[in-house]
Amino acid sequence: MKVSIDPTLCYGSAECVHRAPSVFEFVDEYGVVRPGRENSGDDPQVREAAERCPSQAISLTE
Ligand code: SF4
Repeated sequence: MKVSIDPTLCYGSAECVHRAPSVFEFVDEYGVVRPGRENSGDDPQVREAAERCPSQAISLTE
């Protein structure tokens, strides 16, 4: 699955970066998917990050 972050929803809590630092990073005070890691949606840590994102900014799609 693919993972993405909606920049209009993210408010930079950084929880995703702490949960899955190999997939998410913090850029200009917002969470983003690291380049080349867009297909990491099946990673359990990424799934958990999506479920727990306080602004529901993380999407998992086929
Ligand atoms: S957990 Fe959600 S709100 Fe926080 S940085 Fe990540 S995407 Fe943004």
